[in-house]
Amino acid sequence: MQILDGAAVSAHIKEQIRQEVVELKSDGKKVPHLAVIIVGNNPASESYVSNKVKSCGEVGFGSSLIRLDATISEEELLSVVNKLNEDKDVDGILVQLPLPKHIEENAVINAINPTKDVDGFHPISQGKMVLGLPTFLPATPYGIMLMLEHYKIDTVGKHCVVIGRSNIVGTPMTLLMSRNSNPGNATVTMCHSKTSNLKEICLQADIIVAAIGRPFFLKEDMVRDGAVVIDVGINRIDDASKKSGFRLVGDVDFDNVAPKCSFITPVPKGVGPMTICGLMKNTLLAARGK
Ligand code: NAD
Repeated sequence: MQILDGAAVSAHIKEQIRQEVVELKSDGKKVPHLAVIIVGNNPASESYVSNKVKSCGEVGFGSSLIRLDATISEEELLSVVNKLNEDKDVDGILVQLPLPKHIEENAVINAINPTKDVDGFHPISQGKMVLGLPTFLPATPYGIMLMLEHYKIDTVGKHCVVIGRSNIVGTPMTLLMSRNSNPGNATVTMCHSKTSNLKEICLQADIIVAAIGRPFFLKEDMVRDGAVVIDVGINRIDDASKKSGFRLVGDVDFDNVAPKCSFITPVPKGVGPMTICGLMKNTLLAARGK
């Protein structure tokens, strides 16, 4: 069994991006700039945005962190997004989700200029992805593809089971794995909360991508020997031994599943850092596209 080390791969890819930024600068071109909006102070969101801003610094991007009160109206938030759309220095805009309940997330996503949609959630980005046209891919599936590529994991003709159908993980992952590309060219089964024979399907999988949001959901009796397991889940569970009172675990029962796998991602330091890589690559693409 080999651990897919997201932290190490991410460091490697970030170094490549950093060098590209050095070249952009020496060619007299603009340094990429990512604007991140956080609404309210959800602790998980705080941690995600601080990692994103920190990574911008590491690769040499400019960044702005825009903190807005949880009581901000949808109209006010849309006006902040519009200002960033018009700001020529800003290449990428990311609105950290989830947003407070009184704000319609789709309205905010749709307001982002598609040329700055580095999260890849805008309908234009998603439509282009479906058609296989060049676009910003949603950062998490993009990061997973980068990881599969890095470790040269053979996906061609393999059976990939994706558990979860969200617009940001499960659905794009299903599409990317079934594309005529490498990685890709897999036969993909998408499973979700209404799938009745999940265990039976998972037992046929060469590759399983678990994106459910339930701690330890994927058990060893659902995984066949030699499978590749990608754990997207980030779940907080109580842990009195930690200063914070919690620890992060994935959707996979790692300790029992790992011995059966050929490759497996840990949580943390698996898919999480790769998501940031996807975002950094999208931001570079946005800046180059100008
Ligand atoms: P979501 O809640 O939008 O989707 C969860 C999916 O799981 C749904 O499509 C649902 O159909 C499916 N599901 C729920 N119960 C199921 C069951 N019993 N059997 C089969 N399928 C079931 O979540 P999401 O946004 O896709 O995120 C999933 C997980 O990934 C969460 O833990 C989230 O925190 C994490 N996540 C991690 C990263 C990262 O960078 N590592 C990025 C995004 C999301």
